[in-house]
Amino acid sequence: MIRDQETLNILLDSIRRFVREQLVPHEQHVADTDEIPPALVAQMRELGLFGLSIPEEYGGLGLTMEEEVLAAFEIARTSPAFRSLFGTNNGIGSQGILIDGTEAQKNAWLPRMASGEIIGSFALTEPGYGSDAGSLTTSAVRDGDDYIINGTKRYITNAPEAGVFTVMARTEADRKGASGVSAFIVERDTPGLSLGKTDKKMGQRGAHTSDVIFENCRVPATSIIGGTPGMGFKTAMKVLDKGRLHISAVCIGVAERMLEDALRYAMERQQFGQPIAEFQLVQAMLADSKTEIYAARSMVLDAARRRDNNEDITTEASCCKLFASEMCGRVADRSVQIHGGAGYVSDYAAERFYRDVRLFRIYEGTSQIQQLVIARHMIKAAESR
Ligand SMILES: Cc1cc2nc3c(=O)[nH]c(=O)nc-3n(C[C@H](O)[C@H](O)[C@H](O)COP(=O)(O)OP(=O)(O)OC[C@H]3O[C@@H](n4cnc5c(N)ncnc54)[C@H](O)[C@@H]3O)c2cc1C
Repeated sequence: MIRDQETLNILLDSIRRFVREQLVPHEQHVADTDEIPPALVAQMRELGLFGLSIPEEYGGLGLTMEEEVLAAFEIARTSPAFRSLFGTNNGIGSQGILIDGTEAQKNAWLPRMASGEIIGSFALTEPGYGSDAGSLTTSAVRDGDDYIINGTKRYITNAPEAGVFTVMARTEADRKGASGVSAFIVERDTPGLSLGKTDKKMGQRGAHTSDVIFENCRVPATSIIGGTPGMGFKTAMKVLDKGRLHISAVCIGVAERMLEDALRYAMERQQFGQPIAEFQLVQAMLADSKTEIYAARSMVLDAARRRDNNEDITTEASCCKLFASEMCGRVADRSVQIHGGAGYVSDYAAERFYRDVRLFRIYEGTSQIQQLVIARHMIKAAESR
């Protein structure tokens, strides 16, 4: 749903300009240094990028899902590491509090996340439980008015930058599955919370992950999102439904950028006395990429509109994440191919993007997990007919 086309156009224009004039020229610097310059972060704050999806009453821009994916298409036309910094505040770091939090929790955290004053992270994955997140073993044991958390979370995006974590922990030790899990809001400075070393990743330098370690970390019972124990996994899944649509939109934006670069290269690079873009086998790679991007874009816009219509989009979000992330991988591969040897060396962005986008098929549910979600929902729907 687009609330006001003119206002949205102004926002999309300013994002487009910021990406083109500020972020793209800094891509290589960020890849070399593994840091986003503070001046760029300040501009991200000014543009409201940390609060795109947080409602206006809490200081954000309150974009609808359709508006948010349109913004994500633009934001993603550069290194994905830039988006990662404000991605958790718009997605997995804030949405649990927004969807299921109490009014006091929303008031305490959302305005600070919307402004970019603090970064929110989402800690679900553990060393032993990734795809099988419902079996997680981080424990939260009741002690008077508090809970004591013990366990380790792995690969947590923005953990080194975060001021607050949404942490999934098992409050019902005797309940093994997802129903024994609660979501806690835990401040970075809480005694007993520490970070592992920053992970060395394949790509997306400038975006950071690390372990988050809880050793007798005491938090008040009031820090359970929504106040009711045992609802945490449901909260996490609602957060991921939305997150998957957002990531799908990001896949499309990056794919558009990679294709634009590949087309430009194909039109400039000469072999056999003519631009390689004139060869039909190269044209096939360009055309297949264009077609797949268009298909993914149409899917994501449709699913976003359905979500704005309050439809249950769990299946559609997984379809989008599966298709868009796999599509993005194919476009990255063709982009390297079109660049030839230049696609394999780091003088060109194709090589960097190829590594950067590999992540999209893994996090927020691997492609295999999306397939399982889609098929399970199909079977369930057929059984209830
Ligand atoms: C850079 C990065 C950032 C991340 N950020 C976060 C974050 O902010 N918060 C967070 O909580 N997590 C985060 N993650 C974790 C991420 O969500 C998990 O890595 C992902 O869900 C996969 O879990 P796993 O790594 O344990 O792989 P595994 O679950 O061990 O999977 C390994 C392989 O087995 C396959 N597989 C597993 N189960 C099945 C099945 N039932 N059927 C078929 N195939 C199956 C998988 O598809 C995969 O191919 C991040 C990961 C990375 C790399």
